[in-house]
Amino acid sequence: MSKVSRRDFLKMTAGTTALLASGLTPAKAEAAAVLPPEAVGILYDATLCIGCKACMVKCKEYNSQPGGALYQEGRGIPYELPATAPIWDAPTTLSDKTVNLITAHRQGSGLNKDQAEEGFSFAKHHCMHCLDPACVSVCPVAAFIKDPKTGVVSYRKDRCIGCRYCQVACPFSIPKFEWSSASPQLRKCQLCHHRYPEGGYAACCEFCPTGASIFGRVTDLRQEAKRRLALEPGSEYAFPIQRVDSERTLTRPVSRYLDHLYGLNEAGGTQYMLLAGVPFDLLGFNPRITDESYSVLTWQYIAKVPALIAVLLAAGTASYHFTHRRQHDSGRDDQAKG
Ligand code: SF4
Ligand code: SF4
Ligand code: SF4
Repeated sequence: MSKVSRRDFLKMTAGTTALLASGLTPAKAEAAAVLPPEAVGILYDATLCIGCKACMVKCKEYNSQPGGALYQEGRGIPYELPATAPIWDAPTTLSDKTVNLITAHRQGSGLNKDQAEEGFSFAKHHCMHCLDPACVSVCPVAAFIKDPKTGVVSYRKDRCIGCRYCQVACPFSIPKFEWSSASPQLRKCQLCHHRYPEGGYAACCEFCPTGASIFGRVTDLRQEAKRRLALEPGSEYAFPIQRVDSERTLTRPVSRYLDHLYGLNEAGGTQYMLLAGVPFDLLGFNPRITDESYSVLTWQYIAKVPALIAVLLAAGTASYHFTHRRQHDSGRDDQAKG
């Protein structure tokens, strides 16, 4: 683990202390919970997912490129294990190195795919790209921003002061802090927006072999989801692959869906949406998340936090100076004795 230098420590402390001393607290941004007409997103259909994790591998690969969510100059693909390790990484949680996670959930014997009784289902977890993102609303320096055209919620390292309000505020526990870095960032899915200028789109959708993850305009994805929910289980349907408007399709029997498009209303609505045959609280989604926008709720809570942070920072600064002073004095004593 890299050491935090005195300079880094003072820089972080000074930045946050200056913020608190200035009386500034996170401003409630005017993020309207409306969908921009050109907003893009992802529809994940658990009934089509085979758990191959190609989306996880390609997410890391393409986001390690400049502009990507995992990019760091001079570093390659951030696998969890050193390149010399004899085994491949298999992350089981989201982290500063993994911003897209496939999980498998079993009930009882787990024999029946996409069924709650004695069954199992896969689930895909990453940033939901909320219509009214709590992370954006609490960030005091606009390091989290929501693009007015695409609706993508992205992160600006150059603005971030490391206060981590975003982490506390996100109802889906998405932003992850780079604890091991001396110059830490928050990491999360940015919907591969760095690929759009070249005509690219979400890598997890481009390389999904079954069409379980598809990219497109949110309005089109919602319509596609509505179509699927109206299908007769067992009937044949041509599922689009990669993008919702793709000409490439895969025809297969329709599974029995739970009548719920997750993300249509949750947390005020999100641009990442999911379909499944199993209730979402059995797939790792917090059942306490309501349809209410969290930006207002979290602001009421976060507004009380600065005083606590000020106390902790003051204690931390005093402790640092005390320890540093003792090391300095002890060094001088040793020199004098020598
Ligand atoms: S899921 Fe969390 S990190 Fe992503 S946009 Fe919503 S509040 Fe922000
Ligand atoms: S959209 Fe891009 S960053 Fe987000 S999960 Fe998919 S591949 Fe990863
Ligand atoms: S690539 Fe597609 S099928 Fe494979 S795990 Fe990811 S979402 Fe599921």
